[in-house]
Amino acid sequence: MKIGIVGLGLIGGSLGLDWRSQGHYVTGISRREDICKIALNRGIADYSGTDFKLLADAEIVVICTPIQAIATTIKKIVPHLSPETIVTDVGSVKQPIVEECSQLWSNFIGGHPMAGTAESGINAALSNLFQGAAYVFTPTVESNPDNVEKLKAIALDLNAVPHVCNAQVHDRAVSWISHLPVMVSASLLKACLEEEPNTLSLAQVLASSGFKDTSRVGGGNPELGVMMAKYNREELLRSLYSYQDNLSEIIEAIEDEKWENLSVILAKNRQARPEFLN
Ligand code: NAP
Repeated sequence: MKIGIVGLGLIGGSLGLDWRSQGHYVTGISRREDICKIALNRGIADYSGTDFKLLADAEIVVICTPIQAIATTIKKIVPHLSPETIVTDVGSVKQPIVEECSQLWSNFIGGHPMAGTAESGINAALSNLFQGAAYVFTPTVESNPDNVEKLKAIALDLNAVPHVCNAQVHDRAVSWISHLPVMVSASLLKACLEEEPNTLSLAQVLASSGFKDTSRVGGGNPELGVMMAKYNREELLRSLYSYQDNLSEIIEAIEDEKWENLSVILAKNRQARPEFLN
């Protein structure tokens, strides 16, 4: 397939590496010539440039910019696309993007490959980033089912697992497993940093795999965190309030030395956790 990728950062670059390795022809569009050169040198794209005209013969175009730039980017590329081109994005929030972008291009279908790292930019791009990860597509009732199948096929080429669901349902589910954890992990780091300097220094020396796991998503790209909160505000607040209630319940059990209550909570969690890690 001829695939255009707009925005050659962590996600765009990683998609390019894997699709090229599967024999797709990838055109990479960046705002900067120096990034285009890196894309060619790193094998992210077969051809790369800054001109949207390069997308004229693309069968699928994947917008990999930050969330706030997705719709404005689509407005800019639309005059250069052929009518059948499928346009998708990779934004971590779907409802507001699908609502706006479906009006801009009738063959737009929202997408969200659910993998990442704490890094950003083209130099952070990795091969096999999406292996075994979910890749969600959020068509509307008006979307062409053949286009959904084409997107599922290129997701499978990444060794990702395609899922299809409604954009709103996606945003609620993703709030629990992605956006809430970012805010919880960010508060953990923030709270630690409020400790007095000597204890903090010791804690930093002692920190090991447990802290590495729990702080990873809160120590990631700040712009991404703000965009999640801004574009998925309602669902994120809903899950944050529930988290706050649950944290209060745990605090109460500890304050009141209700060890049996705490034990029941922890035992239930231990049993339930594998269900999140299929
Ligand atoms: P990133 O590494 O910062 O890459 C974004 C790229 O978009 C930049 O490298 C830049 O590419 C371009 N860009 C930046 N600002 C722009 C603007 N104002 N207008 C147009 N283009 C702009 O970020 P990323 O982590 O790949 O995230 C990209 C998208 O993937 C976001 O929508 C995010 O929600 C989604 N996502 C991220 C993750 C994650 O964990 N990181 C996971 C799943 C989905 P050029 O310099 O080449 O123009």
